[in-house]
Amino acid sequence: MQAHIVTLPGDGIGVEVVTEGVKVLRRVAEVFGHTFGFDEQPIGGTAIDDFGNPLPAATLEACQKADAVLLGAVGGPKWSDPSAPVRPEQGLLGLRKEMGLYANLRPVKIYPMLQAASPLRPERLEGVDLVVVRELTGGIYFGARQEATAEVREAYDTMIYTADEIRRITVRAFELARGRRNKVTSVDKANVLAVSRLWRKVVIEVGHEYPDVTLEHMLVDAATMHLLRRPADFDVMVMGNMFGDILTDEASMLAGSMGMLASASLGEGTQGVYEPIHGSAPDIAGQGIANPLATILSVAMLLRYSLGLEEEAGAVEDAVSAVLEAGYRTPDIAGPDTQRVSTGEMGDHVVAAMLGNAG
Ligand code: NAD
Repeated sequence: MQAHIVTLPGDGIGVEVVTEGVKVLRRVAEVFGHTFGFDEQPIGGTAIDDFGNPLPAATLEACQKADAVLLGAVGGPKWSDPSAPVRPEQGLLGLRKEMGLYANLRPVKIYPMLQAASPLRPERLEGVDLVVVRELTGGIYFGARQEATAEVREAYDTMIYTADEIRRITVRAFELARGRRNKVTSVDKANVLAVSRLWRKVVIEVGHEYPDVTLEHMLVDAATMHLLRRPADFDVMVMGNMFGDILTDEASMLAGSMGMLASASLGEGTQGVYEPIHGSAPDIAGQGIANPLATILSVAMLLRYSLGLEEEAGAVEDAVSAVLEAGYRTPDIAGPDTQRVSTGEMGDHVVAAMLGNAG
């Protein structure tokens, strides 16, 4: 098949990990006989430096025309001044909003050979295989806000969800659960927030349309605890934008590192933006030690969801498993009996692990 893929490396380690993602995509094209065209575009802090805009019009236009977008990360200390008129994150939020990517899928899978990298005891990690479905274009990150000023030392953000927004993300979660273990856990704060009470009501309504799927409700504070206490009990977790942002960082620790968690941001069609859940990691940027596997696993999601290439996606995931099985580790997941490799070497090992005669 022919596919047009826009890459948005962004800032910090985003550049390093996207390089490895593209390496793997090129290998997939070679092994399976596809033609992938690549178009690199600026976003985030580097786009502010060069164009004064974290999401230049040309970048958005290129993404809207693409079959899929592979993104690294945005942000860094250089652009973190709270009084700055534009911030790198606006590029990311704008891209998701403009492309209508309301559903963010974040799978949390535990590789048995990485159990030692997690701060949790191995027996707690047995059987963990969950997906967080995070609403991405609504909620408190997009509601009206008021910044404090020198005179008025008061600020607010507004959390708004419409029933339709809740419904479409919930349907996504139930559909996903049907292909998995038939369980949905909806996370909210219905004991305090009006938005969460509407959330719960709509989720229950949607649940009636999926009698084969078990539905449970959990308050977000309890969910943070249960994620550590009994993570294997979760299948699909659905939640609003901010709760999903926070809980997936916590969930990344089950997998051992932020550098292991991939994500897909989807709308109504097949188009999507694929990115690791981590940020630009300024503390390790430029050192060649970032873990590219979250990005490479995002590439697998890109192949599966936007290009419909299930076999190719599986081949990338198998290659990641094989490389971990062989003991190769970037420093964030390294253990005593493992072989430390750089970002580029990790990408090379994944490429090498992909069968030359698949398909
Ligand atoms: P971060 O995810 O960048 O880093 C958190 C910690 O995890 C750091 O110690 C980092 O070294 C480590 N880490 C992250 N990814 C790693 C990888 N692939 N391999 C090895 N270690 C990895 O979060 P932060 O430090 O809170 O934020 C840094 C910047 O990134 C900020 O400007 C923030 O706004 C931005 N950010 C961007 C995104 C995004 O682009 N989607 C998401 C989160 C944060």
